[in-house]
Amino acid sequence: AKARVLVVGGGYGGATAARYVRIFSDHKVDVVMVEPNAAFVSCPLSNLVVGGSKQMADITVPYSGLTRAHGVQWVQDTVAAIDFDTKTARLANGATIAYDKLVLSPGIDFMPDRVEGLAAAYTSGAAIHAWKAGPDTLALRRQLEAMPDGGTFVIAIPEAPYRCPPGPYERACQVAWYLKRAKPRAKLLVLDANPDVTSKPALFKKAWADNYAGILEYRANHKLTRVDGAKRTLAFEVHDEVRADVLNVLPPMRAGAIATPLATMAGNRWCGVDFRTFESTVRKDVHVLGDSTLSASGMPKSGHMANQHGKVAAAAIVSQLNGWEPPAAPVINNTCYSFVDDRNVIHVASVHEYFAPEKTFRIVAGSGGVSTAPSETEGSYAFNWARNIWSDMLA
Ligand code: FAD
Repeated sequence: AKARVLVVGGGYGGATAARYVRIFSDHKVDVVMVEPNAAFVSCPLSNLVVGGSKQMADITVPYSGLTRAHGVQWVQDTVAAIDFDTKTARLANGATIAYDKLVLSPGIDFMPDRVEGLAAAYTSGAAIHAWKAGPDTLALRRQLEAMPDGGTFVIAIPEAPYRCPPGPYERACQVAWYLKRAKPRAKLLVLDANPDVTSKPALFKKAWADNYAGILEYRANHKLTRVDGAKRTLAFEVHDEVRADVLNVLPPMRAGAIATPLATMAGNRWCGVDFRTFESTVRKDVHVLGDSTLSASGMPKSGHMANQHGKVAAAAIVSQLNGWEPPAAPVINNTCYSFVDDRNVIHVASVHEYFAPEKTFRIVAGSGGVSTAPSETEGSYAFNWARNIWSDMLA
């Protein structure tokens, strides 16, 4: 019988792994991918939908390339439970799927219970995170549009590590870009639990001073403790309470729920992996990718990284199924572009090599770096990055 790889999640990590197991195995290994969403919706560029310069259609890609061109069997459902001993997954619809190798790339789940009142505020719609692109992205856009001129929009950022280090600051740029045109008397408060901007601090702060002075105010060391949805207030460990018209609260995050049994690292939040193969450190034949993994030092939780994890894992899986040694020392890279308005962009890039003595990835000395200043040229790179990576996952 043909070997079967079961992939849980059709996002940046999962779709890439599914496509590359088919390619690397010359279509000889069966790949079943379980993903509940009807199409792929990208978090990268979703901040532009919040800001209003892009639409949902611009960040949505069908799964038909994966199924038609590569013969990936897509099951539109959710994996409800996994029996790691018998190597079977049970779907929400009750069906079971047996696997030889399992790939888990379920992204993140949220820990709203860490902040008093936050879960209730999400349920009532008083607070929105929009940290998984989809209906929430549009809901936040609508709240921004409905906000009065002279009103206040708050973005609250949790302590790192969280999905996409520059993401909250890019969102701040997009919200401010919209307010500057549509509601010039409104204010944007960026309240960060971290001691400073987590990614590209000098570039973001300069972009804010140059473009959004008087609109955007950044405050560090704001660790959120309580949300009152009815009063629309946020309380912090040491600072004064803040009242706002729109509460865009990003919660503390952890590995996707289905990966919980493997999330034994950092207070049971993230999954440890062997970085040569992305095989779980606690379960054989289970490979965990993307945001759910305990990130190596300097390695962000990004779509670009998840795509790279997918290729390393696919190469390892196809090697293992053929009885070959997996590649011994993978080298991977990352680029995160951030839009400071609708077309000017800054980036951070890095190259990561497997370092055997410490069994982890480390940044290659002298690799990567950041932009000198925002530019439209980098804006065109950023749109092309998105088109290219979506092709590399889904075409
Ligand atoms: P995801 O891409 O989220 O995929 C997880 C998939 O698993 C989902 O489709 C989900 O439906 C599915 N799933 C979950 N549980 C189950 C289950 N039990 N059964 C079946 N399916 C399941 N990264 C960049 O590189 N560049 C950027 O510019 C960038 N910008 C960002 C902006 C924002 C606003 C945000 C929020 C993120 C951004 N990111 C960016 C980060 C990027 O989106 C994530 O790092 C990336 O999506 C991680 O890939 P993943 O495969 O781990 O998870």
